[in-house]
Amino acid sequence: MTLPVSDTLVTYPAAQTAGAAVVLHTEIVIGSQLIDDGQTSDGGKLAVLLDVTPCHPVDAGWPDQGPDRAVIRILAAAGGQQWPVLDCVVAATNGQKLFIGAAIPVSKDTEGWSFVVAHLLPAEAQLPEGTVVEVVVDAGHRAALSAGHTACHAASLALNRAMAPRWSKETRADALGSPDFDAAAIASSTIQEHGSVDVFRLNKSLRRKGFTVEGLTGDLAAVSAAVNATLANWVLAGSPVRIERDGDALTDRRYWVCSLPDGEARIACGGTHVASLAELGGLYVDLTAGEDQGTAVLRMVTTAGSP
Ligand SMILES: [Zn+2]
Repeated sequence: MTLPVSDTLVTYPAAQTAGAAVVLHTEIVIGSQLIDDGQTSDGGKLAVLLDVTPCHPVDAGWPDQGPDRAVIRILAAAGGQQWPVLDCVVAATNGQKLFIGAAIPVSKDTEGWSFVVAHLLPAEAQLPEGTVVEVVVDAGHRAALSAGHTACHAASLALNRAMAPRWSKETRADALGSPDFDAAAIASSTIQEHGSVDVFRLNKSLRRKGFTVEGLTGDLAAVSAAVNATLANWVLAGSPVRIERDGDALTDRRYWVCSLPDGEARIACGGTHVASLAELGGLYVDLTAGEDQGTAVLRMVTTAGSP
């Protein structure tokens, strides 16, 4: 029942989808913080903490990229049983107690706390502490999410550029020097297989920052065309993408870095990515105006692939 005193080491930023690991801690977790997948009885799930993992967890603080699909298996010589990872979430511990997902009460730089990847398995899984296991991620699903996440970042930069004429006041610049519409207006970002859905708030606070909302709805076709022309150029250029990281611990800072024809873009990001925009095969967005609980919103659906 010893909880780890350091962060889980993660290998997914290095594009790993499998690897050996040691079970550091397990405990049954029950509660509303867990996503109900219909597979769990009232017995809860077994949270499994490993020393190192290739499995990308969802972060309750900014849940843009969801969990990897994976299995954890005991080495063949020790029986070879395997269990599905039903969910994989960022958790934290102060050495006394494990807090899962939204239940984490502190921020990531808090002294005395470790941030760990909690693999949630069926409650009946048998994984004594000290067991050597192999974690195997569904590589096809991962590749599709990586394409979607890279597409999302490229689209946000292209959207910022297309929206630049609408700013009347100085605002924070994005990684390529355009006014950062994405940062100023983002409400939610959801990474999907081969794409993403971003929702931006066109509210009073955005107007106050100096963004001109008037006429945007009628102008959406032109904005979409401008975004898509930028993206087509970038894909054609085959811009390389890499993940820079300060270290291999879960909370070490990581960045998406893309060498675009217009300069090198660097965005703080904890997700997974492809190695080049050329891998996407194509990239385009669809913009629609709408409303969410009385607030005008702009919805951007980004798709990697050919239209
Ligand atoms: Zn990201």
